[in-house]
Order: sequence, then C-alpha cells, then structure tokens
Amino acid sequence: TMQIFMPLNFLGFVYREIRGALANIENLFILLDKTPSINDKPDCQDLVVSKGRIEFCQVDFHYRPDRPILRNLNFVIESGQRVAVVGDSGAGKSTLVKLLFRFYDVSQGSILVDGQDIRDVSQQSLRKAMGIVPQDTVLFNDTLFENVHYARPDASEEEVKQAIRLAHLQQFVESLPDGYQTMVGERGLKLSGGEKQRVAIARVILKRPPILLFDEATSSLDSQSEGAILSALRSVAKGHTSLVIAHRLSTIVDADNILVMQQGQIVEQGSHLELLAANGHYARLWQIQQQEEQEVTP
Ligand code: ADP
Ligand code: MG
Repeated sequence: TMQIFMPLNFLGFVYREIRGALANIENLFILLDKTPSINDKPDCQDLVVSKGRIEFCQVDFHYRPDRPILRNLNFVIESGQRVAVVGDSGAGKSTLVKLLFRFYDVSQGSILVDGQDIRDVSQQSLRKAMGIVPQDTVLFNDTLFENVHYARPDASEEEVKQAIRLAHLQQFVESLPDGYQTMVGERGLKLSGGEKQRVAIARVILKRPPILLFDEATSSLDSQSEGAILSALRSVAKGHTSLVIAHRLSTIVDADNILVMQQGQIVEQGSHLELLAANGHYARLWQIQQQEEQEVTP
C-alpha cells in the first residue's frame, strides 16, 4: 500500500489547483490522514440515499494486525435518528466515524447505508451524502468565505453568509480586518480551535447532507457558545440521520440511542434514562461529569 505524506502548505497549494475538480473537501482528509489508498470497485454504482439508515454488521477493525481496535460492532441508526457515541478516550469512537466515511475499510463485517455496502459504491457519492464536523478542522489558504463556500460550490453568496450566521461566526467575521475576505489558514490568520469548529459547522450547514457526523463537534467551545451552536446544529440535523460523538454527556441526554464504547466494543446502549437505570459504565461517566460541572460552576 502506498502512503502519501504532504506538508500542509503544499496541500493548500494543491487545494487551489484542484478545487474545481473535487466534489468535496473530505477527499483531502484522506491525504491528511495518510490513509492507505482505498479504491473504488471498477463496476461501482453511486450510493442511493433514500432514508439514511446506517447499519454496522459484525464490524472488526485494526490499523495494524497486531492491535485490534474495534471488535464485533453491531448497531443500527434508523432513518432520521440522532444517535450518540460515548466512551473514554481511545475507545474507538473517531475510528468508527472514519470507517463510515471509508477512510479505511473494515477488517471484518460490513457497513451498510440504506442496505448498500459502502465498499460497493463510489467514494464520491458516499462522501457527498455525509457531512462531518471533525475533531480537527482543516482550513485552506484562502478567504474565510471560500473556506465555507467550497462545501457547496453552487451555493449563492447569501447562502454562504447565512451558513456563517447560523454557525455563530458573524461576530467573529465582523471583527476581522477584511471581513469575509480575510485570508485564513497556515499562511493567513490563525483561528482558534473553537473558531475552526464553527467554520466546519458552517460548511455542514451549507452542504445540508442527509447524514451528519459530529466528532466532539463542540468540544473546544465554552459552554455558552456550545449551547447556541448545538441548537443550530439540531435544526440542521432535524429529519436527518445523525451520529454524534459526545464529550459532554449533558449535550446528548435527548439522543434517540446512546452507544457506550469501551476498548473497541459497545458495552451498553439505550436512552439516557435507561442507561442511568442500568447503573453501569454510562451511569459512572455521568456521575463523574456532574461532579466536575459542580466544581467549575459554584
Ligand atoms: P477515540 O475517538 O474514542 O478517542 P480513536 O478512534 O481515535 O478513539 O482511537 C482508538 C484507538 O486507535 C486508539 O488506541 C488510537 O491510538 C488508535 N488509532 C487511532 N488512529 C490510528 C492510526 N491512524 N493508526 C494507528 N492507530 C490509531
Ligand atoms: Mg476521538
């Protein structure tokens, strides 16, 4: 397998060169992630999203054969459901999202979207159907406006500006020397973690894909901005299937289902109340976080 290593500023250059040819940004994450190349099958079809139902069937995964990461994952996200994944750091939550995006192929088992094995469809159609707010957002050496716009190149200027407003970036934009036209990225203005996350959220709002994936999407925001953005995200996600990797449990108490992961396995699942009643791992995590919150807000 071939590995691709490229410095970020070179990627920024590549981005400018090939932007027009790319269906969407997520293809570039493959390069950043130094993923072994995943190829389309020669006779692959485009993914047809009817309902956005996601199914993991007996999924095993390892990055390296000597170190299993995910073991026998089985779960379904029904159409339109909001499902949360929680668990300690290193449990395999982000890996699960990477598999769904097909940054890597499963080692055993299969992942289905509306009944179609994701290895049988074109990667372009798969990634077009999904929007992701990753833990670390990549910005290109371009204007703030274009960094959002590329998520849906046919969007109008007004649509881009509205996405920026809904992601609560408006005030930030107004504080910039050149407003929307301010250069950002490695060679421009450096954004904070929270600001970058809001750019990612604006991209997803603009793209409006049928399936939404959030990887601790608000982890670097203070709790006030988190509250505002979560409500914006919730309105985007309405009626769409969404998978939310949650750091703060208080943000997912109303999820349709919560998967609790430990060392690559789902050890519990259910609603917030069911999991509290079960008095297992989730209930312990909840108690710890409740205590922490009481300590910071006297
Ligand atoms: P979480 O998101 O729950 O914190 P991850 O899915 O990021 O967990 O990681 C699960 C495990 O896989 C960790 O032990 C991590 O070190 C390992 N891992 C993650 N990415 C890679 C990679 N690209 N190569 C090898 N191991 C990795
Ligand atoms: Mg993670």
